[in-house]
Order: sequence, then structure tokens, then C-alpha cells
Amino acid sequence: MADSTFDVIVIGAGITGLTAAKHAAQSGLAVASVEALLFGGLIININELDPALPGEQVSGTDLASNLMTEIAELGVQSFSETVAALARDGDLLTVASDAGTRRARALIVATGAKLKRLGIPGEAEFEYRGVSQCADCDGPMYKDEEEVVVVGGGDSALQEALVLANFCKRVHLVHRGAKFRAHQHLIDAVAARDNIRPLWNAVAEEVLGAQTVNMVRVRNVGNGQHSEIPCAGFFAYIGLEPNCDFVPPEVKRDEHGSLLTDTALQTAITGLFAAGAVRAGYGGLLTHAVADGRAAAKSVRALLGG
Ligand code: NAP
Repeated sequence: MADSTFDVIVIGAGITGLTAAKHAAQSGLAVASVEALLFGGLIININELDPALPGEQVSGTDLASNLMTEIAELGVQSFSETVAALARDGDLLTVASDAGTRRARALIVATGAKLKRLGIPGEAEFEYRGVSQCADCDGPMYKDEEEVVVVGGGDSALQEALVLANFCKRVHLVHRGAKFRAHQHLIDAVAARDNIRPLWNAVAEEVLGAQTVNMVRVRNVGNGQHSEIPCAGFFAYIGLEPNCDFVPPEVKRDEHGSLLTDTALQTAITGLFAAGAVRAGYGGLLTHAVADGRAAAKSVRALLGG
């Protein structure tokens, strides 16, 4: 494996990781970017980024591909590999992946988080056959006559319910509580849509179907009564879990499994930084993803004296 020692290796190429790689490279550091899946991260599933964000409205794919072009022009080396473990090797840190071992003076873990699953019967069985976690990708399949179920009461569930409401006859928004915890502008937008039907104090218990999904069984948590919602699609947005199985146990986690850092985004291991949705205390907005990437690059620069 030629040229496998860098000043900094950024693990994860979502918006945080790409931003960190860009700023580290701009300060003259030798940077590698490692990504197991798709460069761009979760944001590439979003067709229209929140217009409240600075700049012109663009798609997630546009934003990510612009950053990827920038880092390539800055000389960042990008590798498509799955990281299995991190360790210290003298003054360096090592990144072991399916392709071998790379070394760096500092690492930035920016592997983000994945959408949690409910784990109910039928959810795994009907994946790609009506069970989806990408409203923008799969919404057009439900155009006009179909009904879908969305589970959750946070920003993601409401945002995606709004996307689906553009395509579907009706969106049943199943929430276990009596009140959404999402931002007010999303709550207002949902309330303004005739074809979004909130179901309060309700949990989805089973996804049913034949070739594809045709029904979801829900239970009212107040009175215990069951009901069945005929539908063609099922989308659960019940929060995120961090992607950090490969990070050594001496890096402490919070109760959600997110990595703990100091204010410079450094973990308990000197030279190992965590930024974005993988770290505890992450703000959750795109602007926070960008700010974290920038802050991690700045901290690495300060540590390495770049
Ligand atoms: P979240 O804020 O953690 O909300 C998860 C929702 O799912 C909550 O309503 C929760 O119910 C419900 N839930 C959790 N576990 C459940 C279970 N087992 N069964 C049924 N319901 C369950 O997650 P998120 O909406 O994915 O948002 C994650 C972060 O990204 C947040 O910081 C959010 O602000 C940010 N975000 C922002 C935007 C935006 O601003 N446009 C868009 C998307 C995401 P309870 O309320 O009862 O706990």
C-alpha cells in the first residue's frame, strides 16, 4: 500500500468529513479521506435542503459532489474502504481496513449515524418491498393513489412526511407521544397539509403484506386497542445511532453510544478527533455538520502545528 502515511486521515465522507478534509488540506496537511459506502453520506438522499440554510437551495447530492471536487483539487486522497479498527502505533495512529493499514499523525472520525430500525415483525422482511428510509428516493413510487405510514415525531419524521405528502394520497404519521418534538416550522407545515393524518399515542407493531407491504398494525398506547392501516409504504424515522463500532473502547460514549469529546472535538485518545453526528452533543443541522468539520480540522492543525 503506497503512500499510506498521512498527516490526517478523515474517516467518513459525509458533509462533516468532506468539510474537515477540505479545511485540513487547505492548511497544507497531507490528507486522506476514507469512506465505506457512498461519498456524500446521508445528505445525498435529500433533494431539497432546508431553505433556512445559508446560500442557494441545492440538493444534498450537489453539495456533496461540490465538496468532493474541491477536496480532489486540493490533493486529498480518497479511498473506498471499510474501517475495522483504530490503534496507536508509537507517535502515529493506525487505521485498519479491508484494504490494509494506513497511518496518520491524527484521525478525524466523521462516520455519522444511521437511521434506527424499530425491529418489529415485517420491517426487515419487506425492506425494499415497501419498507424504506428514503422518502425522496421512494416517494415517487406512491404517486397519487397510495397511502403510506411514517413513524416518529421528530424533525426527520415530519420532514419526510412532508416529502411523501407531495406524492401520496395520504400519509399516516404514527407517533408514540401526544406532542411532536420537531421544530415549530415543521409542525406548522404538517398541520397545514390535509393529507397528513397524525395518529397520537400510537406505536407500529407489525408490517404486513404479500409481495409488498399492504398494511401496518398499530396499537394505541393509552387504551391498548389495535387497528390496521392499509398502506403501500412504511417509513420509520425514530432517531439515529452513531457509526463507531471500530473506535476503541477507551473512547467513552454517552447513553446513545455517541463519542465523547472535549471542546476541541478531541476524544480521550490524543490525536483522535470526532466530529458530526457520531459525537455526543452534535447539533443535528447541516450548519452544525459543516461547523464540526471545520472545527475538527482547526484542532488537528493546532495539534500538528500545521
Ligand atoms: P429524534 O429527534 O431523536 O426524534 C426521534 C422521534 O422518534 C421522537 O419523536 C421519538 O419519540 C420517536 N421514537 C424514538 N424511538 C421510538 C420507538 N422505538 N418507537 C416509536 N417512536 C420512537 O430523531 P430525528 O427526528 O431523526 O432527528 C435527529 C436529529 O437531526 C435532531 O437533532 C434533529 O433536530 C435533526 N434534524 C433536523 C432537521 C431539520 O431541521 N430540517 C431534519 C431532520 C433531522 P418521542 O418524541 O416520544 O421521544
